[in-house]
Amino acid sequence: QEWEMVDIREGIHDTLQLTSNRIKYYDIEIDLQEIPNTRANPAALNQVWTNIILNAADAMGKNGSLKIRCDNDEEHIWVTIEDSGPGIKEEYLDKIFESSFTTKKRDVKFGLGLGLSICKEIVEKHGGSITAKNSLHGGAIFTVTLPIRDM
Ligand code: ADP
Ligand code: MG
Repeated sequence: QEWEMVDIREGIHDTLQLTSNRIKYYDIEIDLQEIPNTRANPAALNQVWTNIILNAADAMGKNGSLKIRCDNDEEHIWVTIEDSGPGIKEEYLDKIFESSFTTKKRDVKFGLGLGLSICKEIVEKHGGSITAKNSLHGGAIFTVTLPIRDM
């Protein structure tokens, strides 16, 4: 595994390029503040952004809006990804990070239920956390918090 000093914003931009085909019809608002680089596994983190963005695309279908923000304080970086889909049912909010929990039909391509449990594992390996909630407008908001590390 490759750990190096990572520019999180670059990883998010790369992920948006790689998923561009799935998100091209969305209104995308990106507000990436300048944040410090941090020691991380860039390939693994890109998997996290990819999983969250593709879940948002699955939830929103053809039309929707996606807001991606990042910011930091002295010790942490956080990335927020908000979609305009139907959101997550209250009773599922604490289950979605469990391995093999899915509400998608088994014959759907991305319905293995592994995405978020892998995201959680990756983020926790970085000493961070991932949370989900619903926005007042109904969509889902995922927040990934990572410690800022330089060694
Ligand atoms: P999968 O995508 O294979 O179902 P995940 O672990 O990625 O597995 O997601 C688990 C479940 O969390 C999804 O089946 C869905 O019910 C819910 N979920 C994840 N992201 C969103 C979202 N942006 N909006 C609504 N529900 C979501
Ligand atoms: Mg998924």
